[in-house]
Amino acid sequence: MSLTEVPVKARPIAHAIDELSPTSADELIARIAATSEALEGRTVWHINTTAQGGGVAEMLASLVAYARGAGIDARWCVIGGDQEFFAVTKRIHNRLHGAPGDGDALDERARRSYEATLAFSGKALRSRVRPGDIVIFHDPQTAGLVPMLEGSGAHLVWRCHIGVDDANELAKETWDFLRPYVDVAHELIFSRVQHVWSGIEAERTRIVPPAIDHRSPKNHLLWPESIDAILHSAGVLPSNGDGRPVFTRTTGETDEVVRKAVMLGAPHLDPDLPIVCQVSRWDRLKDPVGVLKAFAEHIFPWQPSQLLLAGPSVTSVADDPEQADVLGEILSALQDLPQAVRNHVAVACLPMDDIEENAAIVNALQRRSQVIVQKSLAEGFGLTVAEAMWKGTPVVASGVGGIQDQIVHFSSGLLVDDPTDHKTFGEHVSLLLGEPEFAFAIGDGGRERVRENFLVARHLLQDFQMYDDLLATEDFDDEVLASA
Ligand code: UDP
Repeated sequence: MSLTEVPVKARPIAHAIDELSPTSADELIARIAATSEALEGRTVWHINTTAQGGGVAEMLASLVAYARGAGIDARWCVIGGDQEFFAVTKRIHNRLHGAPGDGDALDERARRSYEATLAFSGKALRSRVRPGDIVIFHDPQTAGLVPMLEGSGAHLVWRCHIGVDDANELAKETWDFLRPYVDVAHELIFSRVQHVWSGIEAERTRIVPPAIDHRSPKNHLLWPESIDAILHSAGVLPSNGDGRPVFTRTTGETDEVVRKAVMLGAPHLDPDLPIVCQVSRWDRLKDPVGVLKAFAEHIFPWQPSQLLLAGPSVTSVADDPEQADVLGEILSALQDLPQAVRNHVAVACLPMDDIEENAAIVNALQRRSQVIVQKSLAEGFGLTVAEAMWKGTPVVASGVGGIQDQIVHFSSGLLVDDPTDHKTFGEHVSLLLGEPEFAFAIGDGGRERVRENFLVARHLLQDFQMYDDLLATEDFDDEVLASA
């Protein structure tokens, strides 16, 4: 299938705004009412390549649901692709982060493969989009679709969730590869100003940092007894105490975690030892092998603790072909460690059959851990950081990309300037493990920082502002819309 709609149920906007002050909530409700009236009869389309796994899918599930709750005909479609297409788009992804990826070129052959796959989805999308609609294309995988919608009368927005702070030649070459496509977009959205490409006009550019949905199964409150029960049911902890593994779905219904993680390395965590955990797709830029080495050399010798590397089951994320290889690299690095360390490292491939069940397991892990780490070598934003901060769990993360916008060092988390500096990384984690009061204060600071800056209501407000701005630029009249 070249274009598949992801079913998203409307969710009440009241859920998105319940952490806002009354004044801010009133402001948002007023804007939503005005904008949704202006959008009447139009559709807001979001296009990406996967309905699950990764930050974009995580955000779209909430943003689309709340927009629908506000009365907007918001839709989310994923495009398909073959192995070669995803090899090329993963290469683009890596290079936009300044990394070589598979090392192959972004040449005419790559361009032909990229465009040939997109031609099918472009045709399908073009037949559905009407004048006056707003189409938001997410990330490089979908950038090539933008010109295919030119002349459709729709407002075309390309949103880039990734980038690098100091672009190297690889990143710049990749901008040039993508430029012909994104040049025809009416608006370009980046997650941070440092990620805006040189040569892109400021008037077409908007900065929208990502956000988390505090009411989603990933982030809602879990009772301590449910946390252990969820992790027991998922096979991550050996004992469950007295609780039931319950979580609340976005529909409001409760359910239980029943599926098991595939545990590699240690068969399960020790319930009595502090947990240091990284939750990420199996991606070299998340540096899981670096986490392993830093734990072995600079944390385990100083603080009694255990490491958990958690990620999705390897075949579950459609647009990421490198996951199995990266997992293999982790297991091989694990084999090289002394037995005493190996006994304290677990690698969990979390079940992805039910995305809300998976979210509940991640939620439990982020709450049960003493320290969450995100040792990325490059990062667009890093939702996992905000997710942990919201739960009051202290975070140690590399000071790269959008992580720097989230964490204020020593106030809402600890940053490591050089992501390859294992020693400082280990010292920061050890400090939090050894000083529970300090860890609590950092966790508290993290939660407040997310409350003020990175919750979904702020994102919705920016989305609605953009819709208003786009509609204000229209140069065709209502008759065109009516005839569409
Ligand atoms: N995630 C998940 N299950 C997993 C691993 C990751 O739900 O097994 C989620 C994670 O909680 C976060 C998203 O995937 O919501 C990753 O987003 P982030 O921005 O951190 O990184 P990306 O994968 O987009 O590079």
